[in-house]
Amino acid sequence: MTDPKTTGLIHHAYLPPAGFGAVQPGVHKASTVIFPNTAALHARNWKEKTGYTYGLHGTPTSFTLEERIATLEGGLQTLLVPSGLAAITLVDMALLKSGDEVLIPDNAYGPGKELARNELAGWGVTHRFYDPMDAAALAVMIGTKTKLIWLEAPGSVTMEFPDLCGLLRAARAKGVITALDNTWGAGIAFDPFALPEDLDVDISVQALTKYPSGGADVLMGAVTTRSEALHLKLKFCHMRMGWGVGANDVELVLRSLPTLALRYAAHDRAARALAEWFQGRHAIAAVLHPALAGSPGHAHWKSMCSSAAGLFSVVFGAQYADEQVDAFVDALRIFKLGYSWAGPVSLAVPYHVQGMRSLPTPHAGVLVRFSIGLEDVGDLIADCEQALAASGFA
Ligand SMILES: *Cc1c(COP(=O)(O)O)cnc(C)c1O
Repeated sequence: MTDPKTTGLIHHAYLPPAGFGAVQPGVHKASTVIFPNTAALHARNWKEKTGYTYGLHGTPTSFTLEERIATLEGGLQTLLVPSGLAAITLVDMALLKSGDEVLIPDNAYGPGKELARNELAGWGVTHRFYDPMDAAALAVMIGTKTKLIWLEAPGSVTMEFPDLCGLLRAARAKGVITALDNTWGAGIAFDPFALPEDLDVDISVQALTKYPSGGADVLMGAVTTRSEALHLKLKFCHMRMGWGVGANDVELVLRSLPTLALRYAAHDRAARALAEWFQGRHAIAAVLHPALAGSPGHAHWKSMCSSAAGLFSVVFGAQYADEQVDAFVDALRIFKLGYSWAGPVSLAVPYHVQGMRSLPTPHAGVLVRFSIGLEDVGDLIADCEQALAASGFA
């Protein structure tokens, strides 16, 4: 007779009836996975999704999210990592070795550029930043050492929409692997593996932190492919790095995915309305939103996108002092001051673009990047209007 208060509570005989059906899948947590016998343990292959080996290699919960993100992206395999930045890191670490070069758009997500400048440089991997709006220049830059080309559409903060097809053609011509940071598109605005002219990226990464979560309360990233060989290369590196994700976080993303397309459309609608409103303000030198005519790369956006994220930037006239733009941001009441985007709360962050770019940028004034949440758009416009007046712009 085993002890009922210790062993009895751990190895309890009760099993709930099978066949429970619910809208959301159950949450399976594990480090240890229990094998029925030694034959099963010896036969199990951690790389295959036909069984379970160890929590780090997947549970029913993480497999379910991987499959759904692969579907969202139009890919065949997905790996989950603890953040969007970790997704970028995984691609770099899996594909680059000493002596290789990586090409990165100058307007790419900043921390990914910092990774190249610091860790990658320290490991003997060189990098150059290219002008994402000049596909011909990229074609010339690709050399024998170039082993990976990053893409981002549109660029972070300055929102230029590149000629993605032109950039992909340049990479294809030299046989270089391409990886797209698809956080903005989220698998909704365009299909990274089914682009015009029969083009596709090799790898699509997303910060699930943004639209797939939508709650501003989860950090997670995904790396999606359509090539089994490329996937396995990434998967081995992923395994050796030990980048697991928590089942509760996976559950939050699974719970948000059914509303992704609805939320994306709502963010898009509100952001366009607000961006158009800003176009009429005299203090604003430029509104950077790829769906607005006149915004950098608008024609490229139009040629391949069905929608846009709820994200845009405004550039204040160069005659205005930084302090006055800061005062505008501080005067906002509904908009909060904070990084990241795609959550329910609208956010505003001031940036000095000049210090963020290696190549020349036309934006002389201070830029404010807005992430439009799910509040009423009339309330958001009123908030911007009162903040402009309160900071002396009206
Ligand atoms: C936020 C973001 C990331 C990083 O995601 P985290 O989960 O915050 O690490 C990467 N790329 C883009 C374009 C992003 O906006």
